[in-house]
Amino acid sequence: MAECKNCGKVLRHNEIGLHKRMINRGAESFMCIGCLAEYFGCSTEMLEKKIIHFKNQGCLLFTDEE
Ligand SMILES: [Zn+2]
Repeated sequence: MAECKNCGKVLRHNEIGLHKRMINRGAESFMCIGCLAEYFGCSTEMLEKKIIHFKNQGCLLFTDEE
C-alpha cells in the first residue's frame, strides 16, 4: 500500500490521484492531502473540493469508493 513520502500516512486512492493531477502525472511517490495542502499553501477542504471537481469531470484518477 502506498504511503505519503513526507509523513508516511497510508494514502487514499484519491490522494494519489490528486498528487498525479496537480504535481506530476508520472509520479511514483505521492503526498497525502495534508502534505499537499501544505505544499500548495491551501486548506485540505479546498483540495477535497478539487477531488470532487475532478471526479465530476470524469477524471479516471479519482473514484467514488470512499
Ligand atoms: Zn503526508
